[in-house]
Amino acid sequence: MSAGCDREPAVVRAVLEGEWPAELSAHAATCADCREVTVVTAWMQDVARAARSEAAAARLPSPAAIWWKAEVLRRVEGRRELTHRAVRPIELFERATWGAVAALAGALGWLEADELGEWIAGSELAHALAGPDASLALAGVSVVLIVASAWAVASGGRKV
Ligand SMILES: [Zn+2]
Repeated sequence: MSAGCDREPAVVRAVLEGEWPAELSAHAATCADCREVTVVTAWMQDVARAARSEAAAARLPSPAAIWWKAEVLRRVEGRRELTHRAVRPIELFERATWGAVAALAGALGWLEADELGEWIAGSELAHALAGPDASLALAGVSVVLIVASAWAVASGGRKV
């Protein structure tokens, strides 16, 4: 670089701010140093601008990547829904079966509570149950089973 012109700082400022006083513009047109400073400053400004926009672009994912990710998520969601729909009848059947088994056991217990009570009273369980209320306890268990079966059937349509 040559010794330069003492107007160079003003020329740099003019390039950066984009405002050229008429007198300075006239000087820069005739001064080789100031013309060079004008070109170099403008070039450096372009480089800085490009670097900034490149950094900004690097931070944002490309539209293609966003679309691709959304598409993958959509397909995964669709497949999950399909699987859920395919398995649903099996789940319903399973729940209905358990409901029927519980209802049957409950009804049997309710209807045969006395006989079961006597049978248990005659067995070793009698000591464990300790008392003549065995049939009452069985009736209670039956009620619990009936309620459980009703719950199983009713909730069969809701759960995932
Ligand atoms: Zn100059």
